[in-house]
Amino acid sequence: MYFTAKEFACKCGGCNMGLAAMDEKVVQKLDLARSIAKVPFAVRSAVRCPTHNVSVGGIENSAHLTGNAVDIACTSSNKRFLIIESLIRVGFNRIGVYDTFIHVDNDETKPARVLWIDGG
Ligand SMILES: [Zn+2]
Repeated sequence: MYFTAKEFACKCGGCNMGLAAMDEKVVQKLDLARSIAKVPFAVRSAVRCPTHNVSVGGIENSAHLTGNAVDIACTSSNKRFLIIESLIRVGFNRIGVYDTFIHVDNDETKPARVLWIDGG
């Protein structure tokens, strides 16, 4: 495993949500993608408690709340390509591209095979 449990902790600092609250398949697929991409995945946000989700402006039904989403910090176009390519190769089919990070989730209650950009 490329990741430490700490990397999946809710960033609010006041709750104990972390790796145990993450969906196992998301973590396994993320680890496999990391091995394919061969570049570091800096986890910027993983599971979030409801309080933290509100404070970072997360949507009400955010996949972060159920431990089904991870945001990976990324500002390099080459790393962005490698990360997204690897996420798709391991079977992720919900990816959001933002200025400074890539969102990926496995929320089966939402549409599959979508790639969105910040703002739409
Ligand atoms: Zn929290």
